[in-house]
Amino acid sequence: MLPEDISLHKDRETIWPASANVLLIRDSDGACLVDVGCGHEDTYLRLKEFVIAQGLLMTDIHTVVLTHAHPDHMGAMRYLLEEISPRIFLHPVEIPLAAEPSRLNETFDMDLPLRYGINPFMLENPDILEYFSNLCPMARADATDSIDPEGELELGRFAFRVIVTPGHANGLVSLFEPDIGMLFTADAVGDVVAWYAPSSGGLGGFLAGLDRLSALPSSFLVPSHGNISTTPQAEVEKTRARLMRREDKILGELAGGPVTFPELSSRVFSNPMIAFFPGPQILKCHLDKLEAEGRVRCRGEEDGWRVELLQGRK
Ligand SMILES: [Zn+2]
Ligand SMILES: [Zn+2]
Repeated sequence: MLPEDISLHKDRETIWPASANVLLIRDSDGACLVDVGCGHEDTYLRLKEFVIAQGLLMTDIHTVVLTHAHPDHMGAMRYLLEEISPRIFLHPVEIPLAAEPSRLNETFDMDLPLRYGINPFMLENPDILEYFSNLCPMARADATDSIDPEGELELGRFAFRVIVTPGHANGLVSLFEPDIGMLFTADAVGDVVAWYAPSSGGLGGFLAGLDRLSALPSSFLVPSHGNISTTPQAEVEKTRARLMRREDKILGELAGGPVTFPELSSRVFSNPMIAFFPGPQILKCHLDKLEAEGRVRCRGEEDGWRVELLQGRK
């Protein structure tokens, strides 16, 4: 399915904190990479092995496109930049995050659970980089080029159309190549539904991105996490259905009467590992959407922030 001059490197796992898939696109000058994976040394060594297995050296990598500034996509820059100095492309809103990754605390809404009274680990100052440090270390990198959100990206002999799909990251970039029908969805669509947060584009952004992806005449889909699929539209709809199932669950929990935000969060996300991140952030995205649609009301009260259903389940 992939043309000869595009190769896909999949690391060992699919589910976070796994490394994102890496695309290698060859041209007469060498090759470019789309994403580079987590910042563990062994992850980077496997990436290098992959490059060498393509008959290339790391010094042949002249360009790196980062779909967004998250550790599973760009952590390995810490090792890569010790060896080479490629051109680095990022969406404009991701450039400052890659340059100063502590700013990810804002886009990940790390203070949101504290604001709503959720703090199971009694953290004073929750820091996403600390959280990542063992799972999938982050790196910093200075972009040399910004990706035109409305434009095209020429990689090898291909002209990829840039499709911005926020929700998971404001500047999350998917790529579509009409001549070969290839849709690279990054974290927007894959084997797992990526987390989303209000400050990363919210659920509205996520759903609008899915609309853009499903409208494309693609014949195969390459995700950042998971396997290539020959049914792109079905994959997009699968992601949409999973998001809607979560909304149904939230509405179901509210059907019994008003509940506080922490209570609702613990009912929807019972796994303690996501009780602080990204459960509450995801819940807030859904409540923002439902509130805008006039289906729920959220108000602060002395005993906590309450959510109530305004009309029955649709
Ligand atoms: Zn991501
Ligand atoms: Zn990812």
